[in-house]
Amino acid sequence: MFGPITQNNKIVYPIIFPIKYGAMKSINCFLYNDGSTLTLIDGGLNTPEFVDFFEQSLRRYKLSIEDIDQIFLTHHHEDHIGVVNSILSKRQIPIFAHDKAIPRLRFEKEFLTNKIHFFKKIYEEYGCLHLSANRFERMNQTLRKRNELSILGDIQSVNEGDRIGDCKVIEVPGHSPDSIIFYDESVGWQFAGDLLLENLSTNALIDFDDNLQLLPTVSQYENSLQKSLKLSTSWVFAGHENLFQNHTLEIQKKLQRMQKKETRIIEAVEKGYHITMDIAEALYGKRVKKEFIFIISEVIGYLEYAISRGKLEKRMENGQWYFRKLK
Ligand SMILES: [Zn+2]
Repeated sequence: MFGPITQNNKIVYPIIFPIKYGAMKSINCFLYNDGSTLTLIDGGLNTPEFVDFFEQSLRRYKLSIEDIDQIFLTHHHEDHIGVVNSILSKRQIPIFAHDKAIPRLRFEKEFLTNKIHFFKKIYEEYGCLHLSANRFERMNQTLRKRNELSILGDIQSVNEGDRIGDCKVIEVPGHSPDSIIFYDESVGWQFAGDLLLENLSTNALIDFDDNLQLLPTVSQYENSLQKSLKLSTSWVFAGHENLFQNHTLEIQKKLQRMQKKETRIIEAVEKGYHITMDIAEALYGKRVKKEFIFIISEVIGYLEYAISRGKLEKRMENGQWYFRKLK
């Protein structure tokens, strides 16, 4: 278990909640004292177990909710915002999140409706609508419960290069369009959200832009890793798994794995698999059904990545994308 990490007059108090969560073994959030301000970075899950663990951790560190001055969110996903509303109900403090996080954190009706339409269209075009019933059920449930889920309070939007105290905001889209790193250069600390999870593969998830078009999430992810690589770093405080220090090596491994994945996708197309589901099953077998959202995101993401790099091409046939090697 990690205790507080200190450098100069600054302290990070890690809150590492052990839980099997997909391929991950923990959900993390951090309290960060920069010498004058105490910031909560991310807010875990909204479950009784997480809330208990969060409160115990505060007590263990001899801190309380009253000590928290502000909240930073690395992105809007549900495993990063769990305790935010409960803190806001006790203390009105500002939240800082990326521009693009705001409609997501507010669970805006228009945004959620667009999301459903986008995924219907994408899953249809990539021939995997038949596996997506659960996902749509969940998205519709979110739409119905949006008033309870919405993050209330004062959300201040931040963008690339903004500074909040000693932290600089670095945009790192790919895992989600609103992903950011909070970077304290004076100590080389990166609060990196889900961009850099130790020993895990990259996790670009398909998503849409303001015109409801598919984003190039894998290229975005690659650029984001390159950006993070350039930051002089002593510790990475990630959204899951361990905190770690060998930041350069970790990113190089991830970049290499991305190239391997692209190669495997291209090889599958060369072997005669031309539609998304066939390619997915050739590479992942039975896991496709069990881990549908993650694997389909991965396969669509890398197919589009290979196209953007001039290695594959696609054309529409009977309403579905058909992929071919570019000669
Ligand atoms: Zn996460």
